[in-house]
This record gives sequence, structure tokens and C-alpha cells, in this order.
Amino acid sequence: MSPRPLPSWVTWQQRPFPDANLLLLHGRQPALVDSGFVGHAEDTAAWARAHAGDVGLVVNTHWHSDHVGGLLQAGGAGIAAGAPEADAVACRDPGCCAAEYLDQPVSPYTIDMALDDGQVLRLGAADWEVVRTPGHTPGHLALWQPEERLLVVGDALSDYDVGWVNLALDGPDAAATALASLKRMADLAPRVLLPSHGPIPADPGAAFVTALRRARRLVDDPDGAIWYGSGGSSPSPS
Ligand SMILES: [Zn+2]
Repeated sequence: MSPRPLPSWVTWQQRPFPDANLLLLHGRQPALVDSGFVGHAEDTAAWARAHAGDVGLVVNTHWHSDHVGGLLQAGGAGIAAGAPEADAVACRDPGCCAAEYLDQPVSPYTIDMALDDGQVLRLGAADWEVVRTPGHTPGHLALWQPEERLLVVGDALSDYDVGWVNLALDGPDAAATALASLKRMADLAPRVLLPSHGPIPADPGAAFVTALRRARRLVDDPDGAIWYGSGGSSPSPS
């Protein structure tokens, strides 16, 4: 099955794991969803500028350092993130600002816009709805574009797996929370899934079937889930 076509106002860049993919949304106020590793910050800024001009807003799907290191704030871009993560970043919560995470330390930064569930954002040339999808992190969010039926899923799922869930940090309910978030996203019946790692799934429905099965296993088998969460079967704690 060939990849689903993207609208002309979307530029997507798949990056080698573990760096996060980039989604650039063109328009009067260009926006970027996730900004990748700090080690690639200059490349990210140059790429965004070349394709869309000056980025006005960066939306972080969640705080992990492979997603927030682009540091476009220094170049004048605002940063938006889920409200729980905005609070945690603001008070320098060590669980949220672990600078050594993936050995890509991120300098202290601030969240300019705290996003709530259902909030509609003008990103580039289209309106996107914020969909809170806790699980991979408590403040993780997805973005839904209803006309084109595009769903940015961050690390909630990929073409081949469900997002890693940190039961040690976020508690035993995190797996059930992740499962509920996946169901909510599947119910939107997106035409295109845009994950932060790996390729665009050729078949969004099949990707959800796989992810839901894996997430259900995390809920039903806590011992296996702990093993899984520690990285036993997953190379992707990102
Ligand atoms: Zn992550």
C-alpha cells in the first residue's frame, strides 16, 4: 500500500531513530510540531526556514528530549505544550526536565501556551484540535485536523508498536490510561497517522489494531508490562 498523500501545506520529515520526526505546517504563521534533538537544532531551524519561512509556534507532543531540543524559542518562536507539562516545565519538575534523557540535554525553556483538550489551534494554513492522549507521558497530546483527517500521534503509537509507558514513574494506571487514549484516537478514524518515530503507516487501521493489542497486553499482564516498560522487548523509550 502506498503512503497516503499529504496536503501541500504539510511537510513531513522522517528522521533516523531515535530522533523525532518533524512536521512543518505552512501558512501565514508557520508552525512546527516537535523539534527533534538539540544536536540537530541548527539543521532543524534551517530546514524549517527553507521550507516555510520563520516558524511562529512550536507545538510539543510531549516533553521528551528527542522532541523538544530544536530550541527555536531562541529564534522567536513560541512554544506550546499540554497544560500538565507546561506546569511541570515551569516549576522545573525533575521528572519532566531530565536533561540527560537520551544524552541530549535540553536547556531550560518556557512554555508560552498551555494547551487543553479540545482547544483549536491555527497551525499554518489549517485548524487543528488538541486531543489529550496521556499514557506515554501524562501530558502527551495528539493533534487532529478534521478536514484532511490527519492525526499527529507523537509517541502514542508508531507503525509497528505502541508507545513505551513508564509504569515506574507514572504509576500502574498509566497502561490503562494509554489504552484509553489509543481507543480515543482510533475512534477518530484518521486517514493519515503522523507518528514521531518511523514511517507514516500505510494502513492506519492496522496500526491501531497492533497498538491496541500491545496496549491491552500492558494492562492485562503487569509483570510483563514492567519488563516491557524497562525496555525488554522495545528498543524505543522515546
Ligand atoms: Zn517520548
